[in-house]
Amino acid sequence: MEIHRRGPERRPYPAPRKNVLMLSCMDLRLIDDLGQFMEGDNLINRYDQLVFAGAALGVMQPTHVAWREVFFQHLDIAVQLHDIHDVYIMEHRNCGAYAHFLGPQFEFSDTQEGQNAEEEAHRKYAGLLRDEIIEHCELRKAQGGKPELWDLNVRCFLVDLRGSVRMLITDGENYDF
Ligand SMILES: [Zn+2]
Repeated sequence: MEIHRRGPERRPYPAPRKNVLMLSCMDLRLIDDLGQFMEGDNLINRYDQLVFAGAALGVMQPTHVAWREVFFQHLDIAVQLHDIHDVYIMEHRNCGAYAHFLGPQFEFSDTQEGQNAEEEAHRKYAGLLRDEIIEHCELRKAQGGKPELWDLNVRCFLVDLRGSVRMLITDGENYDF
């Protein structure tokens, strides 16, 4: 579903009450769009931003294995210092990191078929990372972390080069596509 970039309309999840950690790609074309999107969630100066080439794929790819550890080390610090209760995974269309890490078949065309395949690829990697974050939280709780600290919501989005945002994974939230 399409989400209004600058406003709170059609956001099919509860407004974050605490701070947010946003994971984004490094792509220079999206810096302003991401800021506007966060403003639409009333999150100006209320989010930490981690930047990895490829966003979720950047964290999950096996070429630079250290990146995954770096991500989770930063997640731990964000939770402990900034009272993070939501993680936003901001994937984006026309992401060069997909072809870089996965090969030229991950350069997607502008046909409907290409767009659908692109969305599916981002849903896959965002979903894999989301599952790892949830597992990580369970581990921290099992290690004696405060349950209220480690109860994180993970939201997965796909933004295009105009700044339009779609939700990739919805967890059955109640809204119309
Ligand atoms: Zn990218």
